Amino acid sequence: MMPSDSSRRRKLKQDRSMLIGAAAGVVLLIIFIICGAVSGSKKEKAGADDSAVSKKVISSKLEFEKKEVPYSDISKGSLILVNDSHPYTSVTAGGALVDISSEKNEYYSIRNTGMQMNDLALKNFNSMLEGFYQECSNRDIMITEAYVSGDRQNVIYNQALENSKVESKGGYSEHQTGLAVDLGIYPEEGKSYRYVPSGDYAWIRDNCTKYGFIQRYKDDKAENTGITDHAEHFRYVGIPHAWYMTENDLSLEEYLQALKKYAYGSKTLNVSCFDKDFEIYYIRAKDETGSGNVELYVPVNCQYSVSGNNADGFIVTIEK
Ligand SMILES: [Zn+2]
Repeated sequence: MMPSDSSRRRKLKQDRSMLIGAAAGVVLLIIFIICGAVSGSKKEKAGADDSAVSKKVISSKLEFEKKEVPYSDISKGSLILVNDSHPYTSVTAGGALVDISSEKNEYYSIRNTGMQMNDLALKNFNSMLEGFYQECSNRDIMITEAYVSGDRQNVIYNQALENSKVESKGGYSEHQTGLAVDLGIYPEEGKSYRYVPSGDYAWIRDNCTKYGFIQRYKDDKAENTGITDHAEHFRYVGIPHAWYMTENDLSLEEYLQALKKYAYGSKTLNVSCFDKDFEIYYIRAKDETGSGNVELYVPVNCQYSVSGNNADGFIVTIEK
């Protein structure tokens, strides 16, 4: 039987309303998916992703992930401790040793050609001496000692012994890291003397933290460092660390010890200096897997650096 006109109209009406219903359903489904995705991403941003074991949130509200590094990296980085009880076992402190004469600027001199230094430390040293020149119009500073090989350090040690002076044995000198320099003052031909922080030259002592350097051996810290009468020795450690140590009157030994309170998973050390904000934390090095690697937690999607402490762990520095 042929459908009547009225039943055909009814059928068309039904079809149309089904179509409208289906379209509305699709629209609702799309809205639902979008909302779900947004709330999901909000959750991720808040770090509430419980399923990911490798992601753990500490006080910083940042997200972290695991990173494996060789255990031997413990002796690399700008915060490594080298003293009488912590020998230096790395070769380059994690950076490259570069020839100072080919990388230096015109604001200082070097005692002889062929002197070498850690690349990052030299870059910051150049900036510091440029700053010194701009402030004091003075180019008298000379690097008298930079990187020293273990063998040469033994020669220096034996010479010092003969002259009843104190020097570190090969393997125990910061100069082997390439991160340290001794400064001299060379005002004119034939005249030179050890760096003393007086007159214009006090600027370097007073401003070195801005460039990541510390005056490493202060006489009142000789109990920790074992070294006195060495005001000419500057060591690169990185800006937030240099600033914090100086502000709180800590030797490198004391600072590295203090950082252990800021272990990963508890709280971070927040440092704000020179218009920048940093978060710093310590991770004890444990080779649990026996693979020769250690697991570190590092932040996701932000700038950070890792340094060993040349003793028992690593320090992560986040620049925000
Ligand atoms: Zn020195």
